[in-house]
Amino acid sequence: MPDTLGSPLAARDRGLVWHPYAPLDGPAPYAVEDASGVRLTLTSPDGTRYEVVDAMASWWCAVHGYGHPALDAAAHEQLDRFSHVMFGGLTHEPAVRLAERLTAMAPGPMAHVFFADSGSVSVEVALKLSLQYQAARGRPKRQRFLTVRGGYHGDTFAAMSVCDPVDGMHSAFPGALARQVFAPRPPAARLALTVTGEEVWETDRSALEAWSLEVQALAATHSDELAAVVVEPVLQGAGGMHVYHPDCLRVLRDVADEHGLLLVVDEIATGFGRTGRLFASEWADVVPDVMCVGKALTGGYLSLAAVLTTREVGGTITRSTFRALLHGPTFMANPLACAVANASVELVESSWKEQVPRVGRLLAEHLETAAALPHVTEVRTIGAVGVVQLTSPVDVPRVTRAAVERGLWVRPFRDLVYTMPPYVCTDDDVRLIAEGIVGAVAQVHG
Ligand SMILES: *Cc1c(COP(=O)(O)O)cnc(C)c1O
Repeated sequence: MPDTLGSPLAARDRGLVWHPYAPLDGPAPYAVEDASGVRLTLTSPDGTRYEVVDAMASWWCAVHGYGHPALDAAAHEQLDRFSHVMFGGLTHEPAVRLAERLTAMAPGPMAHVFFADSGSVSVEVALKLSLQYQAARGRPKRQRFLTVRGGYHGDTFAAMSVCDPVDGMHSAFPGALARQVFAPRPPAARLALTVTGEEVWETDRSALEAWSLEVQALAATHSDELAAVVVEPVLQGAGGMHVYHPDCLRVLRDVADEHGLLLVVDEIATGFGRTGRLFASEWADVVPDVMCVGKALTGGYLSLAAVLTTREVGGTITRSTFRALLHGPTFMANPLACAVANASVELVESSWKEQVPRVGRLLAEHLETAAALPHVTEVRTIGAVGVVQLTSPVDVPRVTRAAVERGLWVRPFRDLVYTMPPYVCTDDDVRLIAEGIVGAVAQVHG
């Protein structure tokens, strides 16, 4: 990155505003001038203007792109009524409608919805709820969680405690994080397409068997202190874009049942069609006890998340000493966010089945050439997710710039250059993304 900042905004930003996981004196950011459809208009730190396809969908949220007429209309309409009211003692149409919609579309008999203001907070609520549930069942000593390595569940303290202990932020906060029980990362799997277009899962069966025995042993050892199993179903996102076999999720469901634990699935990244199922849990036909959704929930317009639970969980908490789920954010069920979420979820329901497999097929087809590059270890795709894994950490500023010059926006991390594009990308957009990723990787790491 040049030190002379041609973009006035980048110069004002630098050293003043913190960016995610970035030092105050880190590389200067690109400035967004406009966002429309799947495109961002950017000014680079050196003052050059670019129009790029957003291959990240703004961290996996903007599945319908920017300025979508239906989402804009929903926001405007709600804004004309009221944008926010407290949720204590009050309710409103957008929240009730969204709760009806989410419980109807979720896997299994989800009966209750808690609205949170971000994904991390929804995970906090899910964990808290699990402790309350166990206490209500007369097992107050069950205060820990069983999870797998390689996970990511958010940045707040309880959520961090179930993130991967090595790649997560555990070393930065020694002593401050609750110590959870970690099973190994589930072995990698691939979702392959047969010539007739059928989806088949491939994995190392003996590794899966060994993993499953290890999980069972861990659960048995810690049974009396465990409240719940917490996991991202089938695709671990920010923890490494790692795909694992649905059978592993079934194993976790069985382990939870055997030891009286709740199964909490974190569908914040995987929900709403991203993996090629409406919810990734459906790959395993697993019905969770608790499910967190967020990210694409509002199509990327506003921050909103939700925790869904079964009637059994809701009933148990209602019959407990406290009777309530002990949480209540100020902006709980924000009407503006709920109104947009209703429009977004409706769009997902009517279009993901066409969009996601189409985007996925094109990503698989056009990312494949990256596999032949010298510093690429693997190319993998699932649903509308495409991942190129390198042999060493990505040179993020250089790959970002090479991608921008090719007309796409990516935000690589660790050894991964990946895309989770908006579902509304045209075939040409998807080709541009895939070819742009291959080209940028070849240019910088070739
Ligand atoms: C992004 C993410 C979160 C955290 O959501 P925020 O809205 O950033 O707090 C939690 N879990 C998973 C799986 C995520 O991808």
